[in-house]
Amino acid sequence: MAKRKARHSYQVPAEQSLSLATVYEALFGSQVTVANCRSLATDLSTLADRGEAWSWKHIHSLVKGYNGFKMTMQMLRAAETLLRMQQGMDALEAQMHPTQVLALHTLPPDTWILTRARQCARPGCQVHFIAERPDQDYHCDACRQVTLAEAKDSEET
Ligand SMILES: [Zn+2]
Repeated sequence: MAKRKARHSYQVPAEQSLSLATVYEALFGSQVTVANCRSLATDLSTLADRGEAWSWKHIHSLVKGYNGFKMTMQMLRAAETLLRMQQGMDALEAQMHPTQVLALHTLPPDTWILTRARQCARPGCQVHFIAERPDQDYHCDACRQVTLAEAKDSEET
């Protein structure tokens, strides 16, 4: 596979325009075979880090465009990654995708964020955040203090 120079901006296919048929054809050509669908199912499942792999039949139905079969966001991301790797991008860069974030500090354009977001541990708080420390469970001190105070209250009653 030819290596391509790293790029710093991403041409992400519009979600509606990327079909699994497009991905299949880029990888295997126009003839749809069970073996290729199996291979595609394995690669997509691995990239998506799925506990239960997609079946070749499911992939086949998507490639064929059968009614009632739709790519999930998880599969779409994996398919985009696979296409970029096919085009010579290394595996890590190929997994990068643009997303909207709210940042406390200035982030240079196209900053790579290599960790997963976690949800704040305060019950009811919907904030997802990138922790500053590995043991950080709350997105802010107020959430931490409220949760700890409530835990103390329930111990005393
Ligand atoms: Zn919170």
